[in-house]
Amino acid sequence: MKHPDDDTILKLSLDLLDDDDTKNIKSHISRCDECGKKHQKATDDIELIGSFELPVKSKIIPLPRSRHHLLRTVLKAVAILVFGFITGYSVSELTHESYINVVPHHPEVEATRGSVNDLVVCESIDLVINLDFP
Ligand SMILES: [Zn+2]
Repeated sequence: MKHPDDDTILKLSLDLLDDDDTKNIKSHISRCDECGKKHQKATDDIELIGSFELPVKSKIIPLPRSRHHLLRTVLKAVAILVFGFITGYSVSELTHESYINVVPHHPEVEATRGSVNDLVVCESIDLVINLDFP
């Protein structure tokens, strides 16, 4: 077998070859010092490149401040007042007691026609009733 090109040896080092090609190239490398050295150098270079850790600076981007902070505060206060008014009004309507209306009566009574002896007196309530009233 002729020597594989450098690109094929690099693909072998990166495990990019299919199974048949990998088997054939490894077989050649085990018998050929020149290709074995190229494969070893490519593998070492890949490991060296993979060992670098590049410092990454994470930049913190400040979020834009809300321009409507005051408006939002006022809206919150208004919302609390409206909510409190609605809640208070609802509670007062639910707990509303029915009022007792007292209407004064002034009955007009005719003067008694009988004598005082015809009247029944109830002293406990200070009421005088004429039982013989026609
Ligand atoms: Zn070779």
